[in-house]
Amino acid sequence: MITVNENYLKLQASYLFSDIAKRVAAFQESNPDKPIIKLGIGDVTEPLPPACIQAFHAAVDEMANDASFRGYGPEQGYDFLREAVALNEYAARGITIQPDEIFISDGAKCDTGNIQELFSTDTRIAVPDPVYPVYVDTNVMAGRTGAFTDGRYAGLTYLECTAENHYVPDTPSEPVDLIYLCFPNNPTGATATREQLAEWVNYAQQNKALILFDAAYEAFITDDSLPHSIYEIEGAREVAIEFRSFSKTAGFTGTRCALTVVPKECKGYTASGDAQSIHALWNRRHTTKFNGVSYPVQRAAEAVYSRNGQEQVRALIDGYMTNAAVIRDRMSALGYDLAGGENSPYVWIRTGTDSWEFFDRILNDASVVTTPGSGFGACGQGYIRISAFNSHANVTEGMDRISAALA
Ligand code: PLP
Repeated sequence: MITVNENYLKLQASYLFSDIAKRVAAFQESNPDKPIIKLGIGDVTEPLPPACIQAFHAAVDEMANDASFRGYGPEQGYDFLREAVALNEYAARGITIQPDEIFISDGAKCDTGNIQELFSTDTRIAVPDPVYPVYVDTNVMAGRTGAFTDGRYAGLTYLECTAENHYVPDTPSEPVDLIYLCFPNNPTGATATREQLAEWVNYAQQNKALILFDAAYEAFITDDSLPHSIYEIEGAREVAIEFRSFSKTAGFTGTRCALTVVPKECKGYTASGDAQSIHALWNRRHTTKFNGVSYPVQRAAEAVYSRNGQEQVRALIDGYMTNAAVIRDRMSALGYDLAGGENSPYVWIRTGTDSWEFFDRILNDASVVTTPGSGFGACGQGYIRISAFNSHANVTEGMDRISAALA
């Protein structure tokens, strides 16, 4: 008899975005003449930068010729891209990351989901609340939690992110081994200072813990005093893994390219306390289960770092950040407390009512789709997330409608 992994049965039956899709479909069916504006799911709307498209096309042409055709590439990514990342993302900020500490992949979702495979089942996990659901669900699948009751899984340490701590969690009082942090944050849009990250690095050092730092939105940081990378913090090379993505930075959500940085100093331990190289384990995992990102996609990603690419990516991000400012201004003018939108494409708004009730009100009265905060965790109850990922015209129109509906 084939038995199933019963941990999957603990997962919450419905996924946030499918719930949203159902409500939106029902609304559209009963209001076919009302055009909907989507400021919900965090997917980009603008096309790839021309520099990336050009490199993409050229690489596809290379694949059409005997002399330049390429088959399997290195699982960890081509040197040209690993070197470009090390130079432009890290050396340019005074951070030493070697190209062979960078693992190119097809997404930060996969990497943040897969990385937990390296750790024992009894690893004590800390996740922010609210949270990008992948961190939690992949640990549920792996059997690191108990059942889901009252909005939380037994066995996880939830790091509460509230207005009181400006959505940056404090280190826990109980010991944990693996800590998920994400700054700029999805969904709250909050950022962490160097001092706040230094406290986490210190905690990890003291507790022989490991930080999984998701920096998928680092390109949206506009405040020069904020760290873009956990490796700007002294000692982080020993205790942190960092995830980056071309998805939001350069519009690669449908093209797929990301990277994970695992410094060689990063250590995990056997039950008897022997130190093991996390880099070696991840290299083994990556080369066994992954066969590399396609060559044209890696060339397109490399083009992000060309002079034209940098200008075009900056313009893309500036466009989304102009939208974020509109969302912030309009919701503030209506009297709502909010966070995010200054160094992040997400604005996190305190609704004063149940998240889904507020979501429905905006959908029904303004025909605008947002994301209910409760879908990201118990601490998201009473919030909604509005995303800046849409055209400027749609964001302005959407905010006009929301203002009229809520006024
Ligand atoms: N990490 C965070 C915090 C995200 O919000 C997302 C996507 O929304 C991802 C990772 C996924 O990135 P990718 O498209 O590279 O899989």
